[in-house]
Amino acid sequence: MTNRQQQIVNNVDAIKQLIYDSERWLWAHPQTGFTEWDANTYLTEQFEALGYTLTQAGNVPGFYTDIDTGKPGPTLVIMGELDALDIANHPESVNGMTHCCGHHAQAAALLGIAAALKQPGALDGMCGKIRLMTVPAEEMIQLGFREQLRKDGIITFFAGKIELMKRGFFDGVDIAVMVHGNNTAPEANIDFSCTAGNNGCIMKTLKFKGRSAHAGGYPHLGINAQYAAMLGMQAANNLRETFQEKDIIRFHPVAMGVNCAVNIIPDELVLESHVRAKTLAAIEFENKKLNRAMAGAALSMGAGVEISDRPGHSPAFHDPTLMKLAEDCCGDLVGADRVSFDYNAWMSGTTDFGDVTQIMPGVQFFASGEAGIVHGIDFQVIDVEKLCVNSAKAQLFVADALLSNDGATAKEIIANYKPAYPSPQALVETVDRLIMDKDAVIYDADGNATIDFQNL
Ligand SMILES: [Zn+2]
Ligand SMILES: [Zn+2]
Repeated sequence: MTNRQQQIVNNVDAIKQLIYDSERWLWAHPQTGFTEWDANTYLTEQFEALGYTLTQAGNVPGFYTDIDTGKPGPTLVIMGELDALDIANHPESVNGMTHCCGHHAQAAALLGIAAALKQPGALDGMCGKIRLMTVPAEEMIQLGFREQLRKDGIITFFAGKIELMKRGFFDGVDIAVMVHGNNTAPEANIDFSCTAGNNGCIMKTLKFKGRSAHAGGYPHLGINAQYAAMLGMQAANNLRETFQEKDIIRFHPVAMGVNCAVNIIPDELVLESHVRAKTLAAIEFENKKLNRAMAGAALSMGAGVEISDRPGHSPAFHDPTLMKLAEDCCGDLVGADRVSFDYNAWMSGTTDFGDVTQIMPGVQFFASGEAGIVHGIDFQVIDVEKLCVNSAKAQLFVADALLSNDGATAKEIIANYKPAYPSPQALVETVDRLIMDKDAVIYDADGNATIDFQNL
């Protein structure tokens, strides 16, 4: 560890209690995407108490502040997510919600970074700016609620980062870093890990539409929407053998409840799913096949299906040079033997950090300290020191490595990076075209049907 790194460690240790306290406070106040007002208010007060001036998103949670070193140079964004999940069966759920993905720990670490950067000498030797940003709604859930927000003109996108991107939060930002928690087993002796990236996704709502009737007395007058949905799932399952391994497709429809009674033929059943894959092209290709399967299933029952597709997350590609820099920083902090960065591993889940990596070099690595299954009812934080305190230190190591020496390392990474889109706005416009709402099966008066399931 260099003297400078030791100084960063001391700066974080000096404010460590704030990280511990905020981790517990945020854990106890979970709210789902675009409703994280408790966390937003709490963090706003904490940041302002540290002397920061914040730019708020306003009608959704989320804010940023810029820390100017006073010397020209690149701008690095460090983010902390705010949102929890609906998981009422978790023993510590609050109003049916829990931070069972550990995003509260990111926010606690971000607050720690903010406090550490107020310590004497914290910015010494660095150039450019550090933008600290809280972000809402990483988890792609509650599609009906988000669609209502969209219709009300509050949001354009279902994911927080691209929504903030549209609002200019990433304008002028050159490079991005964040840390997610991980449930690495303590006996594995791994404190930090990373993969090459994550799948992207499209969001899908499938409303199967039938006709209600007495289930015992007059089933011949009904059209069973539930059976149509089951056929759709069967067709999708049969299509799985056509998915190519290289694309890492994931389709996992969940029935969102039936508004019915046992003696009524169900006239409606809603499925929600992501269609996930490694590239946007693969997502679009398989999405068409899945939509066709749903339309065919509905047709076979004489039912209808309303297909709603929404942009989800872009695939996340971690910049390999930045990833190596983060790996070295983690190794400097905890020892290289406690760091496992896999440059070939790919994660089939998705994150809206992917949208960020489409326009600037970025890396999201993992800090250990969680236990149980991520998104499961046994999820717990077991080591705040690793999960939050070490996370804050590692991210500050990365910031220092990028922005010291006149920002030479950051400038090199930025120069070698090839963005998928020339600007945040270009990404926003491209993703916007994925929006589709269609009645996929239209019957005429004679019972003939027209199928219409794609817009790309
Ligand atoms: Zn999650
Ligand atoms: Zn997460």
